[in-house]
Amino acid sequence: MRYPTLIHHGAVNGVTGSCHQVQMDDAHAVLIDCGLFQGAETSPDGQAAAGRLAIDFPLKDIKALILTHVHIDHVGRIPYLLAAGYAGPILCSEPSARLLPIVLEDAFKLGFSRDQKQVERYLRLIEERLVAIPYKQWFTLTDSAQLKSRVRLQRAGHILGSAYIELDLHYPTSGEKKRLVFSGDLGAPYAPILPAPKSPYKADVLVIESTYGDCQHEDRRTRRQRLEKVLEHALSNRGTVLIPAFSIGRTQELLYELEGIIHQRRQKASGSGMDWANLPIILDSPLASRFTRVYRELDQFWDAEARERLKKGRNPLAFANLLSVDSHAAHEAMVNRLTHTAQPAIVIAGNGMCSSGRIINYLKAMLGDERHDVLFVGYQAEGSPGRQIQRFGPQGGYVLLDGQRYEIRAQIHTIGGYSAHADQKGLLGFVARMRHWPQEVRVVHGDAGAKQALANQLGELYRKAGRSVAIKIPESAVHE
Ligand SMILES: [Zn+2]
Repeated sequence: MRYPTLIHHGAVNGVTGSCHQVQMDDAHAVLIDCGLFQGAETSPDGQAAAGRLAIDFPLKDIKALILTHVHIDHVGRIPYLLAAGYAGPILCSEPSARLLPIVLEDAFKLGFSRDQKQVERYLRLIEERLVAIPYKQWFTLTDSAQLKSRVRLQRAGHILGSAYIELDLHYPTSGEKKRLVFSGDLGAPYAPILPAPKSPYKADVLVIESTYGDCQHEDRRTRRQRLEKVLEHALSNRGTVLIPAFSIGRTQELLYELEGIIHQRRQKASGSGMDWANLPIILDSPLASRFTRVYRELDQFWDAEARERLKKGRNPLAFANLLSVDSHAAHEAMVNRLTHTAQPAIVIAGNGMCSSGRIINYLKAMLGDERHDVLFVGYQAEGSPGRQIQRFGPQGGYVLLDGQRYEIRAQIHTIGGYSAHADQKGLLGFVARMRHWPQEVRVVHGDAGAKQALANQLGELYRKAGRSVAIKIPESAVHE
């Protein structure tokens, strides 16, 4: 059978730029995600290279774009896709349809224009293309005598609206049927707010992410204890804890955990002298604040534990200690205040890999002072400033920000697992719990070591079960 064929336009030489094309027959194709390349995958200095933004493949056959979730490395090239002439629908889950316009408004302002009229015209265009599909329901893509194809979204537990994609292809003339599953980014079990993903019933071909394919996360309790320790440190030496975080997903998870810790510590009323009630949690990111509002509004998609907190009258994503900083003037004032006063505070600011955004101003002002802490809670791509701080900070090194050298005396911490990504065990479980295992697995979306480690473990899983499989690590955008 010649079809389907898979073309990987991104997420093959690293974790960003996710974009996979399924050629269903010689005139029909779908795209799964259309993401931006980030970090070292753009250029050595971390700047997005223009050449990696433009869409460099033909769009003639592409009938639909299907989104796993709205992280920028999965949707960031949509403006370029539209600019290249893509005229089809954008299919995604209902929460994603709420979040996507906010993500793309931001991307449009950064990459194209800040002119409000243009932005609005552009957003209307996006809204017209958006087709929200409820989870667990089949949606027909094509229904002809040659090709019947349909798609279904299942909850992936990664960020609000995230889904893995099941694509069913049926070729009536030959009678052949195939189900392809695209994992997108899979959430970790026991992550805050969202329920853990359930494995698909079956797959013939699985395209699976491998961001954390070579490691095991700390469990949630250990993570929370370590987070608590860092907060105690800030309270005791009156410093600031800087948390670079992506505005969607991780930020809301962190807020949720912080609310939990503060709630508990206030109730204990320990004689430690620490003023938990007045520890400000500063969300310095207008974008993250907008996403947090959507998270709050869509509480029907929360897990049981999070809904339980609501029922008890708590508000895990809008609590008393939480302070949002919006305007740029307020941001500058906040950097200044926290740098020059000894007021303990927790600051969450983007972006998550410290390659741009408001976190940069905090880092420039605070990295040289040992009173402060930087806490990494997410993946730092090779070549990003975040990775440099993480790597050279603990040994008293320096980092280059905007071409300037900054000595690192602040304490650097990394807490794994607040990443909303499944670890190796979670990824293996995704396959192992299927009723019918795939005969072909393609490992994408990971550093070389992570992909290889996951591929090896998958091979082992199949071998132990006495089953055969073809495991591939696609190298670049090649037809196979
Ligand atoms: Zn993601």
